[in-house]
Amino acid sequence: MDKTAEYLKRFMNGVKKRNPGEREFHQAVSEVAATIFPYIADKPIYHKMQILERMVEPDRVVMFRVPWTDDKGNIRNQRGYRVQFNNSIGPYKGGLRFHPSVNLSVLKFLGFEQTFKNSLTGLPMGGAKGGSDFNPKGKTDNEVMRFCQSFMIELHRHIGEDTDIPAGDIGVGAREIGYLFGQYKRIENRFVGVLTGKGMEFGGSKIRTEATGYGAVYFMQNMLAHTGDSLEGKTVSISGSGNVATYAVEKINHLGGKAVTLSDSSGFIHDPEGIDAGKLAWVIDLKNKRRGRIGEYADEYKSATFHEGRPWGVPCDIALPCATQNEISQADAETLLKNGCMGVSEGANMPTELAGIDAFQHAKILYAPSKAANAGGVAVSGLEMSQNSARIAWSEADLDKLLKETMLKIHDSCVAYGQKKDHVDYLAGANIAGFIKVADAMLSFGHT
Ligand code: NDP
Repeated sequence: MDKTAEYLKRFMNGVKKRNPGEREFHQAVSEVAATIFPYIADKPIYHKMQILERMVEPDRVVMFRVPWTDDKGNIRNQRGYRVQFNNSIGPYKGGLRFHPSVNLSVLKFLGFEQTFKNSLTGLPMGGAKGGSDFNPKGKTDNEVMRFCQSFMIELHRHIGEDTDIPAGDIGVGAREIGYLFGQYKRIENRFVGVLTGKGMEFGGSKIRTEATGYGAVYFMQNMLAHTGDSLEGKTVSISGSGNVATYAVEKINHLGGKAVTLSDSSGFIHDPEGIDAGKLAWVIDLKNKRRGRIGEYADEYKSATFHEGRPWGVPCDIALPCATQNEISQADAETLLKNGCMGVSEGANMPTELAGIDAFQHAKILYAPSKAANAGGVAVSGLEMSQNSARIAWSEADLDKLLKETMLKIHDSCVAYGQKKDHVDYLAGANIAGFIKVADAMLSFGHT
């Protein structure tokens, strides 16, 4: 074993020992460390200052009780979290996730990833993540409101427009952000941009809702353009049917591709004729208003079929995983490759298991890791913060232009640090480009 591999092994053993049982967190750190150790092998200052060792330790973890009352009058109890990971380059920034699978490991992986992602955007934002094991599914609006209000009763003391600015994520959309912001304003008696993803009536930004899905597609467009290709005529398989997935479909349609799948936790639909604008509007209404299951699509549109499981067996040119972590296994990755998939842009966070990433990397397809591919959402959140501070609102055209420029800048940073002899290693490029800015800021601060 060479010296770098030996350091990496020792480092990962240490991470596992200090964070027992945190499988998702180990996975996220391992993916980053495997590309950073070779990069810093000839840069002793990062070793001497223990930069990576300090980067894997969150600045702060807050865990709290969130009691609330359901519509039948029963007292329910959930656990709330905010993981403030790293504020070296700006105030903490990252979403809130409400899902029964939320635990400390999931939020630490997300906060760690967020630190690199926010750095890649070029905006001054540190990394954080938070949320709760509360499940908004099947709850009434009043129940969701009471939960959000109780959650904010504790969270408000840890956040602020210059300290930590949460946003949405799985299970936290426009409705939840509205309840959370309303409660913050009421407790603090201040109207400030303390959350992003707000409604347009109270300080939200144009195209914030669309930004993550659009951005993941722009990133794919940039990778294809770099090889002289385009999205025109490409068949695209997409997972999820939430915020990220639906706007990815919209942008694929704009750019001449054909999106043929969507999914949720019950299974996926395959529509070989394509999910056009009319069908997409129906899905958005199903998910945001009627709050139904994706299988209903196949009842509504006879061109489609519903299947259990995940959509990766459907032949496609491009795959956009936009649901959740670890939704592409090694076997799924191999199936995608066997069917001719030439590009993957990760709209969801860490959707591909490590062995699946290895398969994509080995095949040298265009593989964009989430911290680069889905950074468009937080980039527009950063622009929402700027608009709030300046008390202005930019136009949709201006913001879309800034989003496109940001995704191109991130693409080019990945190329700058990931160019290999005959292909671009976007994984290494994203990790190294994200690392440098945070690491160098930490060097400036000394032993903090
Ligand atoms: P939504 O809650 O709007 O949608 C999530 C979608 O994923 C739903 O279709 C949901 O199905 C599905 N899903 C969730 N968990 C599972 C699971 N365990 N198995 C199968 N399907 C599942 O979330 P978003 O679209 O906002 O987020 C999707 C991904 O994108 C997440 O990884 C998130 O971290 C990431 N992301 C989001 C950003 C944003 O701006 N919103 C920014 C950057 C990244 P069901 O309804 O059945 O649960």
